Amino acid sequence: MSQTTATSLGEAKRIVVKIGSALLTDQSNGTLKRDWLKTLIQDIADMRARGQQVILVSSGAIALGRGRLGLPKGALKLEESQAAAAAGQIHLAQAFQDLLQNHEINCAQILLTLDDTETRRRYLNARSTIETLLKLGAVPLINENDTIATTEIRYGDNDRLAARVASMMSADCLVLLSDIDGLYTRPPLEDGAQHIARVEEITPAIEAMAGDAGSELSRGGMKTKIEAGKIAVGAGCSMVIGSGHVIHPLKAIEEGARATWFVAHSNPHTERKRWIAGHLQSLGTLHIDAGALNALEQGKSLLPAGITQVDGTFERGDAIAIVDAHAQEVARGLAAYSNTAATAIMGRNSNEIEQVLGYRGRAEMVHRDDLVLKKRTS
Ligand code: GLU
Repeated sequence: MSQTTATSLGEAKRIVVKIGSALLTDQSNGTLKRDWLKTLIQDIADMRARGQQVILVSSGAIALGRGRLGLPKGALKLEESQAAAAAGQIHLAQAFQDLLQNHEINCAQILLTLDDTETRRRYLNARSTIETLLKLGAVPLINENDTIATTEIRYGDNDRLAARVASMMSADCLVLLSDIDGLYTRPPLEDGAQHIARVEEITPAIEAMAGDAGSELSRGGMKTKIEAGKIAVGAGCSMVIGSGHVIHPLKAIEEGARATWFVAHSNPHTERKRWIAGHLQSLGTLHIDAGALNALEQGKSLLPAGITQVDGTFERGDAIAIVDAHAQEVARGLAAYSNTAATAIMGRNSNEIEQVLGYRGRAEMVHRDDLVLKKRTS
């Protein structure tokens, strides 16, 4: 087993847990399954006590809200499900907040749209907010912002949203709690269906096993779970699909309950650096002085003070090249400012940023987490 990626819950450092609607709500009356949720929260409190960080992605807003608003069973119109999400989300968050508070853990709600994880400028914002919450000891509770997302701009299922969150937050383990305990060679109720415990690579044969969406009450069937697996594994994050039909579902997985592990063969840190260094087209150049180069070589962030010239047209979150006084590329990174703002604050002290730009931005021009140094050839 690799040293660098988590393939058991016990060894993961940062875990995203996705909870499906069917687990959280009683389908007969649309109410929350509080007793079950209590056991899940106990598992999370135990993980936190061991020093593991947990991010929750919970479905259930629409399922909870439709009952409260008296909407009929069956398919809802878009505006009805948006209204249901608005009414349900508040109860969902309240339940998590109450139960986490019993363990003296703060809960913080974040509602994301597709744009927040796909557009780099917004991605940097969401990432640093969630990072700050984790640092402050809170458990982020995430859902899609169903109330404003229209069909074209929504994920629609929380499996892929959770995988995007795992990738964005460099998590090393994603848990999809589902109403099924993993992937089977064919639909589980059919004769000869065999459970698969470990997927080393998501091949077309594995994808074919997923069948069509809709094997569950919630939106995402096995298909969206495999899609989520591709996103997670590609970001160096292992993923496990496990049953949520038991109490203490995370503890159960940890203790070896039947589940399917999708194994990442890299780690989030390496994959993020590879993404920044190789996959993004750089849209501009920052020229830096010798002092800044020295700081970068020591693993520090790039501050505006060390920048001598800004070339190109770029926005916050875009990839840029960083060159030394001889115009040699020394690093690549994601810019925290647009070229216009960067030009205005270059050579300045970080505490002058607010005065120059008129708003309080980030202290760094390129944060060290968003920076990859080039290997020296000479
Ligand atoms: N965001 C939806 C909700 O909270 C659930 C999407 C899904 O089932 O994956 O109701």
